[in-house]
Amino acid sequence: MSYYQKVEWTVTPKTAPKVIRNCPKCGEKTHYINSTKFRVNANGKNIDVWLIYNCNKCKSKWNMTIHERTNPKDIDPDQYDRYIRNDKELAHQIGFDPVFHKRNHSELVYDSVEFDVSVNEIDANEITLNSQEITIRCPLNINLRLDKLLADHLNISRSKLSKTLSEVIPLKKKICDGMTFVLPSNY
Ligand SMILES: [Zn+2]
Repeated sequence: MSYYQKVEWTVTPKTAPKVIRNCPKCGEKTHYINSTKFRVNANGKNIDVWLIYNCNKCKSKWNMTIHERTNPKDIDPDQYDRYIRNDKELAHQIGFDPVFHKRNHSELVYDSVEFDVSVNEIDANEITLNSQEITIRCPLNINLRLDKLLADHLNISRSKLSKTLSEVIPLKKKICDGMTFVLPSNY
């Protein structure tokens, strides 16, 4: 008996990408780590919010601007509350958000991002040949190539994947939410 199985792979990053910046104290380009802490400064009628990064060598701080001299009415109260509470999930989300990084001219390093994959079966039908239809769930932009995800999750080398699956799966594509492909059983 064979199955055509539909599954979802939910990819959840455990760490946010590092940022490359020139560290004034180290005198060279270093990696900065997302501290998951915010700094909120109310100055008269305006509010500034930053996400704090630390140099991984000397621990110097770099504040990434989230809001600059913003009228408090323009900040969602729930969001403001999350800044004050140093909400980790929000700090993690912003750490992946290309909009903030572009505005701050920060260069992201994705190589160090670790991730978990959880698998859920959606549907299964009996057919003549075993295969799996996989849909990727990953709302954050984690800049991860499909072959890296498959190699890690299936525990096979990228060169073997490239030999056996490059014809049927877009291995070099970056994963995105909703991406679907069919994984044959004989990879
Ligand atoms: Zn430094």
